[in-house]
Amino acid sequence: MAVIYSRILVAYDGSELAEKALETAKNFAEQDPNVSIDVVTVQEPFKLYGYHIELSYEQIQKQYEQDLKEMMNEVREKLADLPNQTQMVELKGYPAREIIEYAEKNDIDLIVMGSRGLGNIKELFLGSVSHNVVQHSPKPVLIVK
Ligand code: ATP
Ligand code: MG
Repeated sequence: MAVIYSRILVAYDGSELAEKALETAKNFAEQDPNVSIDVVTVQEPFKLYGYHIELSYEQIQKQYEQDLKEMMNEVREKLADLPNQTQMVELKGYPAREIIEYAEKNDIDLIVMGSRGLGNIKELFLGSVSHNVVQHSPKPVLIVK
């Protein structure tokens, strides 16, 4: 059976649910060699949370980029056994906006993402990124939870 969503974007922030989103896309890809996957991660300039407060901005930025590189390498390894076309994409800006724009410009058929991400406020069902993508993306969105 051919999968109707042939170019899939996975919005990836390294969270558990982003991991699940990646696995979901991988499952689709395993069913059809024509499915391709774009794993998109967006650097948020104002959200360098989780870093030591005493580090300078430059040090934090450097560490952040290093962590990002490692994260993307891990993803690359996870996808390495797929015969499908896959690519890693790093963007900068507001995540929801970048994800939506990328999807439009690159003829993405489906966006797969987690309901929540790395943020620590868990009262709401959707995080701000998933909320905004669902709200504003003209492309279909699959939210995993
Ligand atoms: P908030 O960020 O609003 O505090 P949260 O972190 O719990 O809340 P979101 O950021 O909306 O929730 O994360 C939901 C999903 O959106 C993640 O599972 C991931 O798929 C995607 N996502 C979030 N941030 C990014 C990002 N910077 N780059 C790519 N995808 C992202
Ligand atoms: Mg978040």
